[in-house]
Amino acid sequence: MPDAALPIPDDFLWGVASSAFQAEGGDVPNDWVEAAQQGRLPPNPGNGFWERGEEDFALVASLGIRHYRLSVEWSRVEPERGRFDSAALDRYRRLCDAARAAGVTPWVNLFHFTHPRWFATRGGFREPANHADFLRYVETTARALAPHARHFHVQNESMVYVVSSYLLGQNPPFVASRDAAFDMTRHVLALQADGARAIKSVDPSLLVAGIEVYLDARPRDPADPAQCAAAERFDAWYHGTLLEALSTGWIRLPGRPPEEIPHLRGAVDLFGFNYYSSTAFGPDGVDSFAEREDAPVDRMGRHVFPRGLEEGLLRVARALPGVPLLVTENGCPTTDERFRIRYVAAHLAALLRARARGADVRGYFHWTAVDNYEWHQGFSDARFGLIGFDPQTQRRTVKDSGRWLASVIAGGRLIPSEIP
Ligand code: BGC
Repeated sequence: MPDAALPIPDDFLWGVASSAFQAEGGDVPNDWVEAAQQGRLPPNPGNGFWERGEEDFALVASLGIRHYRLSVEWSRVEPERGRFDSAALDRYRRLCDAARAAGVTPWVNLFHFTHPRWFATRGGFREPANHADFLRYVETTARALAPHARHFHVQNESMVYVVSSYLLGQNPPFVASRDAAFDMTRHVLALQADGARAIKSVDPSLLVAGIEVYLDARPRDPADPAQCAAAERFDAWYHGTLLEALSTGWIRLPGRPPEEIPHLRGAVDLFGFNYYSSTAFGPDGVDSFAEREDAPVDRMGRHVFPRGLEEGLLRVARALPGVPLLVTENGCPTTDERFRIRYVAAHLAALLRARARGADVRGYFHWTAVDNYEWHQGFSDARFGLIGFDPQTQRRTVKDSGRWLASVIAGGRLIPSEIP
């Protein structure tokens, strides 16, 4: 962190990001609830967003935050194949309207890791015959919400979805197979292209933004050829395939003939860049990368490494010239507000460095507004919110980090001496 204040441009977009299931929770008919019922994942009572979203928008607006990324829980909107629930769609419409009434722009994401049970049972995205079901849901929902929202995402972190659900087998449907992961890579990329087309078919002026998390793969020891090769192999697949596909329309995967999906080129009007930490490939497997032995560690055991955000933004900017970038998620799991403030400040400074070096980064969305369910931790000390809540009363309380971010936004500068 330099000594001098870092100015932030006036048109910088300040936002928060969330996902439907993580905030709303509840006994919805999706694959995640089913896995929780089987004891494979923590249960999710939600943080009350479904009932209290209006209040959350007003609270966020009071901090000077003008953008709110939310998502639609597909299993609420289409609980059975082909039966759309108009009350659920209406609730999402009212949420979008409430955001706008509070002066907050809603950004609506249509897939954030959960599938309706009926869709999961039929094989999910892995079964190409099912893709039409997803695209019908995307178009129907975009059509219902388009008069109320102008910013859409087809999916959140499609590549991490593939890693967690099909390569490592940690998330539903718990498949651990390289072959499945390569097949799924092709499918999520194709769905990005087709989903964007479905949204634009509703209204070509709607903005469609991709969202991917940058994993910043590095060898733990750059002098070790095996670690370098492992990091490079992962990077070539995870970031390489994605960026090449979005810039050229070509999908190249090991052991498969190259495939061109021409409308993947230009399928995103804006690239949503999520970042939490860097990934190290070491002698004992994969963990988070640390530049120094004493690098701070968050409540999920990840080292803090803001340089990964700066370098990642520059790399994506080079790979996709002309496509604006937006940090669509960044934050840390902690109960220590000083830690959170320092984490956010360091990553904002890294973002501003990337901008100064030429990356067209339009803004920063913090993950998340109100503490929510974390996929494998449930409601624990792995809290990401600028706002806390009481699980009994659901009363919201702005944390120190929320107040600090509000002062940065109001002042239009990041002032190092004001970082605790
Ligand atoms: C996901 C969120 C998750 C966050 C923190 C992101 O990759 O989009 O759903 O809560 O990471 O782990």
